[in-house]
Order: sequence, then structure tokens, then C-alpha cells
Amino acid sequence: MGHLPTPLEPMPNLGAELGLDLWVKRDDCTGIGMGGNKVRQLEFYLGKAQEQRATQVLITGAVQSNFVRTTAAMAARLGMGCHIQLEERVPNPSTLYRENGNVLLSKLMGATLYSYPEGEDEAGADRRLGEIARKLEQTGEVPFIVPLSADQPPTGALGYVDAARELSEQAKDFDAIFIASGSALTHCGTLFGLRLIDDQTPVIGICVRRDAEQQTVRVRRRLNDLAQLIGCENPVRDQDIVLDDRALAPGYGKMSDDTQKAITLAANTEGQFLDPTYTGKVMAGLMKHAPVHRGQKVLFWHTGGQPAIFAYADAFGFSQT
Ligand SMILES: *Cc1c(COP(=O)(O)O)cnc(C)c1O
Repeated sequence: MGHLPTPLEPMPNLGAELGLDLWVKRDDCTGIGMGGNKVRQLEFYLGKAQEQRATQVLITGAVQSNFVRTTAAMAARLGMGCHIQLEERVPNPSTLYRENGNVLLSKLMGATLYSYPEGEDEAGADRRLGEIARKLEQTGEVPFIVPLSADQPPTGALGYVDAARELSEQAKDFDAIFIASGSALTHCGTLFGLRLIDDQTPVIGICVRRDAEQQTVRVRRRLNDLAQLIGCENPVRDQDIVLDDRALAPGYGKMSDDTQKAITLAANTEGQFLDPTYTGKVMAGLMKHAPVHRGQKVLFWHTGGQPAIFAYADAFGFSQT
């Protein structure tokens, strides 16, 4: 369902600004439901849902989750209903955050919304989805859950194992790849997929959710889970797991000065939109590494998230005109 392969494009103006031969992998252009990285992941989850003849898809995420919005879009296209549980992950959210951006789009697509008061309880959030699923079953529906917690198979990462192959068919000579590391499925799939085809390009995961120490544990675990899912040996060496959390503060889904600067610079120089939760932080992290990679060919993996920008309109501090 995704518009694949996505374009690989140069970012000459921003590259000149940073002293890099900078390129972007446009996974914001995966097409359906305003695109983003979750389309690649959902190809695999919803494939399973179709196999099971599911009539309803259930998913949990942050209030401004791009994952739930893309799920609603793909479910709509497949003729399935969509049930979305929104978790309170971001403290003191604004009215815009609660109502605009992805929330507005999910409502527009007719998804049923639920709220979950905890933001850091992945297993609990999944359990609650299970309860909703059982209720749906009682009314004759066939529910399918897109799981969140790391206890479940990393099915979505398969989309990025494939994306790594796709990238290597477009270009093989990057000195470094910068990519978001949240649930870690995008990061793990990409790293795993590259090493599987013996591509040794360094992959730098930029932390958007947990600090580098916690995220390293998660990535290591998910790589092993992925090897098990695929049924091969894990081709990733421990020293290949690189995480940088310097752009994470003040925390998940919160704007920082560095992030705002990165978003503004990408928009001003390239006309490209980055979001405050994921891609803006990845670019802010990449900018911190730029001096080390001076003159090198560097890839920024754009994972989407633009609809969330509208939920953060007040965080940019623009005055009203
Ligand atoms: C979810 C998301 C990420 C992080 O991907 P994970 O696979 O959860 O690590 C990055 N960018 C955007 C825009 C996202 O929506």
C-alpha cells in the first residue's frame, strides 16, 4: 500500500550550511494517510490482519501518535474499522496538542478513540487493548491488535529490513545514517537489514523517547527478537549499536531550542518540514555530529510526522499576524 521506493534526494542547501554532503531518504513520502515510517511497518501488521480476516484493527500510542493516524488510514482503505487508544505520554499538553494534528485526522477517518491515563506502561496499554478486543469479539467482530510492548514480536521492523535493501539499491556509499530510535523498530530494522546484506554503514540512532542507556538495552533486545522472527542469526555486532540522546531533552514530545532551530533551518533552506517529536530531534542530533563528519556523505532518514506540527503551533512562539 505504501508508495515505494521512496525518493532519495540531496539536501544541498542545508548540507552547505552544515559542511556535509547531506542526503534525505523521503519516508515522509510513503503515501497513504500522509505517510511516514509507520506505513512500512503496517504493511506487515495489516498483512497479518488480512490473513486473519480481521474486521477491526486496534492500536495504542501517544496522543499525537503518527502510528495510530496511519493505522486509521490503512484500515479505512482495507475496509476495516479502527480503534485507537491514546496514552498520556506528554505532560501538560496544550489544547492544540489534544485536538489538532493527528487527533483531528484520526477522527476524520472515523476511528473510535479511547484514552489511557498512563504514558509509560506499555504492557498495561496492550492489556487494555486486549480488553477492548474481547468486547469487540462478543459483538461478532474479528479484532487484530498492533502491539506496542517489547514482549511482542517486532513485526513492524520487517518493513525496515526491506527499506535497508531499498536504500542500498539507491546508494551504498554513505559515511553515516541518522535515524530516529523510539520503539526502536525503525532503527533495528534498518541496522539489521543493512548488515544482513553486508553493508557496514554506521547507523546512528537518535533517542526520542528514552535515554541512550535504556534505549541501547531495548535495541539489543529487539535485534535478537528480530533475528528470531526472521529465523536467522543476528548479523549486528554490539559495537554497531550507536545511540545519542543529546537531543532528547526536555523529553518525549517536548520542543527544545535545538529542535526548533533544526526544524526552522530545514524549512528555511530546503522547504522540508520536520516535527518536534521525532524528525526535528533527529536533525538536531545530526547537527551535533556535523563537525565530526565534515565533508562526508551523510543520510538523514526522514520518517514523517508532519501532521503533528500543527499540534505544536503554539510551541514555535510565532506571533499572530
Ligand atoms: C514512530 C516514529 C518514529 C520512531 O519510529 P520507531 O520505529 O518507533 O522507533 C520516528 N519518526 C516518526 C515521524 C514517527 O512517527
